[in-house]
Amino acid sequence: MAADEYTAVVFTITRGSFVDGWGIRTTIFLKGCPLRCKWCCNPESQQPYPELGVTPSECNQCGACRGLCKSLTLESGGPVVDRARCTNCGKCAEVCPTKALAMFGEAYTVERAFQELMRDKAYYDRSGGGVTIGGGEATMSDKFTYALVKKLQEAGVHVAIDTCGYPVSPLALKVLEQADLLLFDLKGFDPERHRRDTGVSNEVIHDTLRHLGALGKDIIIRLPLVPGHTDDDETLRKEAALIASVGSVRRIDLIPYHDFGAVKYEQLGRPYKMAGTPRLPDERVEEIRRIFEATGIPTQIGG
Ligand code: SF4
Ligand code: SF4
Repeated sequence: MAADEYTAVVFTITRGSFVDGWGIRTTIFLKGCPLRCKWCCNPESQQPYPELGVTPSECNQCGACRGLCKSLTLESGGPVVDRARCTNCGKCAEVCPTKALAMFGEAYTVERAFQELMRDKAYYDRSGGGVTIGGGEATMSDKFTYALVKKLQEAGVHVAIDTCGYPVSPLALKVLEQADLLLFDLKGFDPERHRRDTGVSNEVIHDTLRHLGALGKDIIIRLPLVPGHTDDDETLRKEAALIASVGSVRRIDLIPYHDFGAVKYEQLGRPYKMAGTPRLPDERVEEIRRIFEATGIPTQIGG
């Protein structure tokens, strides 16, 4: 298969972002991730295939989906899907005029993604920006992402990869090595707690970070601040020491926990495990900022 024909499932493309790297950026989000963070605010990004989202409140009872599929019944409150039987085929979404039934994700070839992303080239050039490939985990679609990174770079586009730092193959690691900038997530220091919170130990993630630092790659660290999971002083001080030792971290972004993704769990018919988790008070976020600023690396809230 020619590299231009490799595919990945894209769940959204956002244009005009200032937070996903330097300058003005267009960010393409790919489905598929090896981690299962309890606080994930993009649950639609976790599986590598398109998924049906159901929003009964959007249903206008037009009846177009009635009798279409054994997994779907139309009730007075809107559509109800039997998730155990639904194959995510998307047929019901095709006929739904209101997006009460709508798919998360659509397959793109490298060539199609490239053409979409090149529409904003003038913005990248004027602002010192570029493309960011995020997810999910961009390196899960290793062949697609490697080909896309190379094609964009050959066209003079700066490419950032937003990564959880857990490469699933040698080529996935090569994707990270090839990127011009890495937005690298760290989600706690203790390996056992990290495994409970994300499904994997963080030892591979720390090794990957050190490896990329040894190569001198530009890195922005992203730290979700999740009450009761990643916000205690001991964890934060150990993370700060690790980050300071890497040598090529250009910025630290602190991302306070929020529950904006909760509605998407409902749309996917999955439980939201973080329900009831409070947000961190502003004063605590400021205290945490001072811990990381002490590394001498510029630190900001948000990103
Ligand atoms: S996505 Fe396909 S299988 Fe699932 S409810 Fe809709 S039509 Fe049925
Ligand atoms: S097609 Fe959409 S809007 Fe029409 S009845 Fe079905 S869910 Fe409701």
